Amino acid sequence: MKTLPKWAATKYQRLWQTYANQAFTFSRAHEVMGLGESQTKNVLVIMESSGYLLSEPDPLDLRSRQYRLIPPEAIQWAEKLERELERQPETDKSLAAILNELWARVREQILEEFGPLDLPETLAAQVSEVAAQTAKRDTLGLIERVDFGKFDKAEADELKELLKLFDGKLNSYRSVTNVLLEYFKMQRDLEAGEFDAAVAEIALLDGQPLVEPKREKNTSLCPICRRFPQSINAQAMITGNPKMDSVFQLYRGTRSQIKICSFCFLSGYADLPLARISKDGQSINKQRDYLFIETPIAKGSLESLLAYLREGAIGELPVQESEAPAAESAETGETDLLAQLIEDLQKDGIAVTPNDLPILFGSRERLSHVSGFLLNSLNALSNLVVLRVPLERLSGDEKLSGAARQELAKAAMYDFWRITSETATLHYGSMPA
Ligand SMILES: [Zn+2]
Repeated sequence: MKTLPKWAATKYQRLWQTYANQAFTFSRAHEVMGLGESQTKNVLVIMESSGYLLSEPDPLDLRSRQYRLIPPEAIQWAEKLERELERQPETDKSLAAILNELWARVREQILEEFGPLDLPETLAAQVSEVAAQTAKRDTLGLIERVDFGKFDKAEADELKELLKLFDGKLNSYRSVTNVLLEYFKMQRDLEAGEFDAAVAEIALLDGQPLVEPKREKNTSLCPICRRFPQSINAQAMITGNPKMDSVFQLYRGTRSQIKICSFCFLSGYADLPLARISKDGQSINKQRDYLFIETPIAKGSLESLLAYLREGAIGELPVQESEAPAAESAETGETDLLAQLIEDLQKDGIAVTPNDLPILFGSRERLSHVSGFLLNSLNALSNLVVLRVPLERLSGDEKLSGAARQELAKAAMYDFWRITSETATLHYGSMPA
């Protein structure tokens, strides 16, 4: 509630003399005030934002609005209350006492206006019980104690809105009862252990932070790699950050985009054939379950590796293949791809057996989910292999936890590191810069 400037206060008085409690339209206000159209609009805006005027859609014509003044006695009452509630730093009242006092006044007004209602005389004691878990949260409900059927709709709505301010059963951010409840819970938690939460940094009053929040460092850097400056807006399809993601919320610019660096933008495009894109409701998820391997190992061996991944993983596992692979394939006339791979690797001086590769080569079924291709490298000394390694499928568990994913990624990387004679640089879920 703000004090109206004098010139606006005289317009308020004039309107009140004409319309009192009745609703009026913009053109009526225009006539009464005797001002130009834009000035009339201006005065109405000031009255509304200062708490002297209600504006609502006109029920007869929803495109226009109708106005209603707050009566002078209500304004006087609010001003008086505001003066009384002025912050007194020396107050030694507890939050519980303040809530009880406030509720006592509001309850009295409610009973006066709406007649007898079953409303508790105090609130704080019950809140304390709920916080101590000796009573249920439901016992803090106020709205459900009232039979709204006996009021007309406008009255019922008004009463409901008032009660919402004190109803502790609803998860309402408006409820002061909930503030006390959270305060009690915090006290209980503090007694149970040590906490270091700076409450003032997260608490809001009227939607405003109590202290200026600490700014995230380096917000001009790319939120994905945190290495290069932001330079371009990108969709979730590129960034892999869906709208509800905390990185997205922190860095969002336009409605559905965050700004990232040119490198992440390019690699976000380049990895589209490798990434797993899914759509959950409105948000697009991009999973980067791929592995980049940079290795000096010969192209031929890498091609055997890819052929094995592509085909060797499908079909039956020959018995005892690791013991006599070459002989068996000669007998059957079929190429054993694993044997071929091992032979090729051995030619390159890399001695590995299937037993060395526990994650990938231990199970052909799992391996069938891995696919990849060889990229041409500008560097004559190394080759690039790109593999899709969907960890959920490798483990057979779609709801793999973050920690387990990480371990599995490490193990899979280790297998490939062994295959490449411990020469490769490996990147899971990111392209090497
Ligand atoms: Zn970046």
